[in-house]
Amino acid sequence: MRFLDPTKIAEVAAKFMELSSPCRLCPRKCMVDRISGQIGYCGAGSLPSHSGILQHFGEEPPLVGIGGAGTIFFTHCNMQCVYCQNFQISRGECGEFVTVEELANEMLKLQLFGASNIEPVSPAHQMHLFLEALSIAARKGLDLPVVYNSSGYDSLEALKLLRGIVHVYLPDLKYADSRMSAKYSDCEDYVEVARPAIREMYDQVGDLELDSNGRAVRGLIIRHLMLPNDISGTVETMYWIRDNLSSTVAISLMAQYSPIYEAWKFPELNRRVRASEYNKVVDLCWDIGLENVFVQELESQDLCIPDFRNEKPFSWD
Ligand code: SF4
Repeated sequence: MRFLDPTKIAEVAAKFMELSSPCRLCPRKCMVDRISGQIGYCGAGSLPSHSGILQHFGEEPPLVGIGGAGTIFFTHCNMQCVYCQNFQISRGECGEFVTVEELANEMLKLQLFGASNIEPVSPAHQMHLFLEALSIAARKGLDLPVVYNSSGYDSLEALKLLRGIVHVYLPDLKYADSRMSAKYSDCEDYVEVARPAIREMYDQVGDLELDSNGRAVRGLIIRHLMLPNDISGTVETMYWIRDNLSSTVAISLMAQYSPIYEAWKFPELNRRVRASEYNKVVDLCWDIGLENVFVQELESQDLCIPDFRNEKPFSWD
């Protein structure tokens, strides 16, 4: 089975290019001319910019497979979480510009070294450039599943274009209450945007499917980072998934929150998630019939904050 069709990807890339100027690539709809270099809310420019392209062994096991996830950490972001666990890259502090041809070559290198997939991380604001590079790489022989790893704050119009291009969707579902997203992520309509976006993703790819090596080749995995004091609305989110998608959806329940970046300004965010809080939610997932939940050891709280100033940001990999 071939994953990538270069002609189809090129057609979709052209549609994304139209979405980029005036920019409606994400729900912020800044309407700036990205092609000529105008900058909108996310701060991204006219060239692809990343802070690391690497085989990442710290993702969920079906994404790692044998050769690691082929991650491309794009810089900048269309959200501004005060506790951002990757703040060095989301704020554009670490990163380098490349051409789309160079990005395509990096994808081919990932394949050559055995990566299990191509996983753009926080790609919404650079998706037009990612797709151009993907079509070039596919023409040169790239053929891996595409894993779309996003904040969940995605444009429905853009997502609909990705049917048949993305194989695995890996969105966050960060909040259950947009008052929380407004306060902590400068995003007043997160829940109203993310829930329909995730419904669309599920409609496109369905439940998680693995190949004979245990590698994810299709499907949806929803990530939920638990925040202290239930700021993330975890219980409500678990019920929403069960009642609006399915009890069979794969969920990654993340315990690794660390109060970094500007979290210290908010006392309610300024601690880690307790084992008792996490275990209670794990029990709830079983009790309400959620069948596919990836859980973490609480010790992982110490391990999972990458430092993108290092040559190897994930030094525990
Ligand atoms: S991608 Fe960036 S410039 Fe475009 S609408 Fe979103 S925040 Fe604005």
